[in-house]
Amino acid sequence: MAAAAGPGVAALVGSPVAHSLSPAIHRAAFAAAGVDWSYVAFDVASGRGAAAVAAVRTLGLRGLSVTTPLKEEAAAAVDALSPAAVAMGAANTVVVDRDGRLRGESTDGDGFVASLTADGVDPVGRRFAVLGAGGAARSVVEALGRAGAVDIVVVNRSPARAEAAAALAATARPATGDVGGELAAADVIVNATTVGFAGGDEPDGVPFDVAVLHPGHVVCDLVYHPMETPLLRAARGAGARAVDGLGMLVHQAALQQQLWLGHLPDVAVMRAAAEAELTRRRATP
Ligand code: NAP
Repeated sequence: MAAAAGPGVAALVGSPVAHSLSPAIHRAAFAAAGVDWSYVAFDVASGRGAAAVAAVRTLGLRGLSVTTPLKEEAAAAVDALSPAAVAMGAANTVVVDRDGRLRGESTDGDGFVASLTADGVDPVGRRFAVLGAGGAARSVVEALGRAGAVDIVVVNRSPARAEAAAALAATARPATGDVGGELAAADVIVNATTVGFAGGDEPDGVPFDVAVLHPGHVVCDLVYHPMETPLLRAARGAGARAVDGLGMLVHQAALQQQLWLGHLPDVAVMRAAAEAELTRRRATP
């Protein structure tokens, strides 16, 4: 656990960060808990991750959130890594330990599991289908394996990346053969691709044929811009349960604050801050 008393500054590093919701989410939780910390975002380009981690020492920062494209560079630059960060080869959080050593942690996957659990879906004994094999998918697969999912089938456009992601959990496997059958048989389907992302190449797309969806499915979309993605709309239309990606974002941030401060912040306050920020942006041309 980190030393948390007194005023402090935590920061987000990565690029781009201008539209990140993290400052709003973290600041709201600090304010609600009476923690005298501020939170700032720095745009740091690829190749400067080690310098950003060194800045924690130089500037006396109390914690770091790390986003794309610096998670691997941050993992290589810290003094120690949590087991999840070792498995991922990436860190989205830097914690300053009491002795001043910097520890890399990975809260994305556990944030997803916490969000799912908070939504009343216990991963234990459930069958998952994870679409995608990038950083987000890898963190979800790794965390679901630890959380007790009995089967995690990884479906990805590039099969070699699906194999690598599936290697992160004992109960995971890459999809082979009839993907539609695999998706239909899953209890929970997770979109961890960029399909459906408003700023991406396929904002109106869905990552698979939604004809397989049925009322027994839980469908999670990690994409949260927009919050109501084409996939979540299709899921609701099919009578399935739809879980948006804002929960993962908020819960991974809550786990970061737990690591920095030693206590879990008010997740409802963080979620409300994220929603208020999204509403504010929609109202601002
Ligand atoms: P990434 O590392 O770039 O991976 C992107 C994945 O999407 C890859 O598996 C890629 O397949 C797949 N993909 C891209 N275009 C596709 C298409 N047209 N059809 C099928 N698959 C396609 O990205 P990431 O960091 O994992 O992020 C993935 C998504 O999760 C993003 O939208 C991101 O915003 C979201 N995310 C959300 C949270 C949260 O807290 N809710 C956290 C992290 C990420 P290939 O391997 O074949 O290229």
